[in-house]
Amino acid sequence: MFIVLRQGHTEGELTEILEQLTQMGFSGHVSQGVERTVVGVVGRTYPELKETLEMWPGVDEVVPISRPHKLSGREFQPQDTVIKVGDVTIGGEVLVVMAGPCAVETEEQLLEAARAVKAAGAKILRGGAFKPSTSPYSFRGLGQDGLDLLAQARQETGMPIITEVMTPQDVELVSRYADILQVGARNMQNFTLLDEVGKTQKPVMLKRGMSATIQEWLLSAEYILAQGNRQVMLCERGIRTFETYTRNTMDISAIPIIKKLSHLPIIADPSHGTGKWHLVTPLSLAAVAAGADGLMIEVHPRPDQALKDGAQSLTFDNFQQLMAQVVPVAASVGRKIA
Ligand code: PEP
Ligand code: MN
Repeated sequence: MFIVLRQGHTEGELTEILEQLTQMGFSGHVSQGVERTVVGVVGRTYPELKETLEMWPGVDEVVPISRPHKLSGREFQPQDTVIKVGDVTIGGEVLVVMAGPCAVETEEQLLEAARAVKAAGAKILRGGAFKPSTSPYSFRGLGQDGLDLLAQARQETGMPIITEVMTPQDVELVSRYADILQVGARNMQNFTLLDEVGKTQKPVMLKRGMSATIQEWLLSAEYILAQGNRQVMLCERGIRTFETYTRNTMDISAIPIIKKLSHLPIIADPSHGTGKWHLVTPLSLAAVAAGADGLMIEVHPRPDQALKDGAQSLTFDNFQQLMAQVVPVAASVGRKIA
């Protein structure tokens, strides 16, 4: 349920409301909008609670809601969440492009990729140091050495970095390096990991599980938000369907659905969404047209030699072309590429 405060309520009234909620065993989450302040009440609420809360000083109205996702929902926060990462803004008018190799392989590979994607207009460098891998015999990442290389690439290029954290135990380590923590598709319902990233104050990008419904995905975001971390963005990366031509089926419809249901930014990842490099640009354009707040694109200096996901990785030239083609599509939906 949501407590809508009356206009002109005092700070003291808000503090009192939050304290009372805590004493009753609930947690209160504040959304401060331009026109109104809303407190999301999280816990085992019951219908009679509405009348009680409406008697409290400063309260205008109490709205019970039946949607299971509360803090991620538009009812709680009508205005879009905007996340600041250094100089980069995610969720505003300007689209953000995150690009780089699937996995950090060598210093040379990462730095070459970092310089090229930056020159083409990417704002955030991606690269996996801890790689989830379907087969235990595939490349599983460089671990902490990979994080060191990412830090070096950030130092050299000034680009913030996004990298995956796979276990609750690694959250502390990865948070020391990453500007954005990535939770991968395979871990979307690793609830202890979600709790742990929720306890940090780092922005988190939560990828959609390959067989997760939109509601399950939002409920996973809810875990992070309920721990107090409001800097959450979502990433559509394709879902598993009966189609075998593509690695996954890029669910473009998820983008406007998320926009309608939630205030969280939504990033599109057509690299994993399709698994094929020649589909990455067309699906990027579709995602931007559908309202995505940004793109995550795999780029490798030599895709044919990549240790991971070479088939879906763009060459530098192809990435440059993608960036040029996105500009007019973004403009047609009122967005810009910085
Ligand atoms: C990745 O971004 O490299 C990755 C492993 O993605 P996903 O979790 O979507 O498969
Ligand atoms: Mn990958």
